[in-house]
Amino acid sequence: MFKGEAVKCPYCAEEIQLEAIKCKHCGSDLKKIISEERKLKKEKSRFLLKAIVVIIVFVIFIAIIDSLSVETGYNISSSSLGSSKNSPAYMLASIQNNQQTGNVIPSQKMVNKFDMYLNKLVKKCKENSKSRIGDYVVTAQTELKKEGVNLQLSEIISGINKSIPENADNLIGCDEAATAFVVLVSAQ
Ligand SMILES: [Zn+2]
Repeated sequence: MFKGEAVKCPYCAEEIQLEAIKCKHCGSDLKKIISEERKLKKEKSRFLLKAIVVIIVFVIFIAIIDSLSVETGYNISSSSLGSSKNSPAYMLASIQNNQQTGNVIPSQKMVNKFDMYLNKLVKKCKENSKSRIGDYVVTAQTELKKEGVNLQLSEIISGINKSIPENADNLIGCDEAATAFVVLVSAQ
């Protein structure tokens, strides 16, 4: 019967079409009421559109943040530093144990300690991704000393320089740093 959307006339409560400007049942003038109803509907769909846009922008934002953190390369997972025989933590522990006892096989406790120490360094890099080599080297020396490994600053610098890519612009990433320590301390 009705082609358009039906609404109730506020005066006689009979059904009339949304487009009507005059009630066909009671003859009331509906211009103002109907236009308000239309405005409300428009606002509703506008709000829905805004909500969808906000959600899409948010999703894109999260995706960009995610891809950036991968590109900067500060994502060493703790498993890659872990306690397997090829891990940096194991190698460092092995060198320290050899210095102290003459035995290259470290205890699990010692490996775990180095694993914790390397993760601490990675965390530091994440917090301050653009720290220059100078600051990093001093930190590294202090941290290594705490673990019983004594190295000169020049030794640490040359070890790190050997392992950073030429295009790194004198900045060091955590993965390069972790590799540098292994290369450096292994050479001792
Ligand atoms: Zn009416």
